[in-house]
Amino acid sequence: MSKRIKKIIRNLSNIPGWKTKRKLLIIESDDWGSVRMPNLGVLKDLKAKGLDLESGDSFRYNNNDTLAGTKDFEMLFEVLNKHKDINGNSAIITAVSVVANPDFEKIKANDFREYYFETFDKTLDRYGYPEAFNCWKEGIDKKLFIPQFHAREHLNVPFWMRALQNNDSHARTAFEYGMWGFNNIHKYGCYYQSAFDLEFFEDLKAQAETITSGLHLFEKLFGYKATFFVPPNGPFNNSLEELAFKGGIKFISASKIQEEPFGEGKTKKRFHYIGQKNRFKQIYLTRNCIFEPGSKQRTDWVDACLSDIEIAFNWNKPAVISSHRVNYIGQLNPLNRETSLKSLDELLRKVKSKWPEVEFISSHELGELVNIR
Ligand SMILES: [Zn+2]
Repeated sequence: MSKRIKKIIRNLSNIPGWKTKRKLLIIESDDWGSVRMPNLGVLKDLKAKGLDLESGDSFRYNNNDTLAGTKDFEMLFEVLNKHKDINGNSAIITAVSVVANPDFEKIKANDFREYYFETFDKTLDRYGYPEAFNCWKEGIDKKLFIPQFHAREHLNVPFWMRALQNNDSHARTAFEYGMWGFNNIHKYGCYYQSAFDLEFFEDLKAQAETITSGLHLFEKLFGYKATFFVPPNGPFNNSLEELAFKGGIKFISASKIQEEPFGEGKTKKRFHYIGQKNRFKQIYLTRNCIFEPGSKQRTDWVDACLSDIEIAFNWNKPAVISSHRVNYIGQLNPLNRETSLKSLDELLRKVKSKWPEVEFISSHELGELVNIR
């Protein structure tokens, strides 16, 4: 698709839904709390064993994405803190987070018959950086980093457990290394990472349970209820919205065109726009800007994102930026973090100079504004 056509589509997609004259900027960053690549030794071993860890966009995830350590937080907070909006508020990240990871030891001890998880603060202990959890609390206190809900774990539990029980060799090999985020092959295109894709319709029940318990754990870990929910990777059966609603979710992020799964490869297209309400009066929030400076797919991320923001503001829309955790992690590859933070710093500086009236807010604050209309 040519650049011009892309720009026209981006303009058109910004037309429907809630409007505001305010220049609101929201940064949504997915995946916090999840294990992806435990360390580079694991990457090397699994590659040698023939697992696909590097095709497409998975390359940058499996080479860079892992649990955030103190240094990651310190450096990110420094950049966010540096940029204040017209109200004196710092730039803020809505950290779309999971609250648990599989308890590999227990699952194995039980011969893969049952699934067990550990809350992610326990995973941090296991990885040897328990102090990182204090950074989460610091980010919340200083209004730099506000966790919201991605899923209980970034994992399709029923689908993955079946693969392990059926002795799927790649799933079992990755399991031995404490990971599941490789490109698995599946006839309906289900990925272990896609927590709410449906291999079979019957899996909905188990998925529903992960939402209820995940939201409960979220409150226990952070001391407040999550109100904003971003289902991982997109696939999500909308009947799960009811339990999310019962668990306190008021705002849901959806793609403008959602593929709702029904199991065995069946899907239906659903269209969403910002401010749209479902039958539980939950409000959909949609993203309209992309900032993935760690990705090699572009070299001009700052300019490209500025152009997305400009289109959003021209249509009187908030600028809702998607920017995954992987960009800001330097545990595996410090250069990845350094380059991304430099770009983020530049982006925020340019935004402020172009739109001095810009306001930095989090996703749940945006949801509340949309709600009062
Ligand atoms: Zn995710």
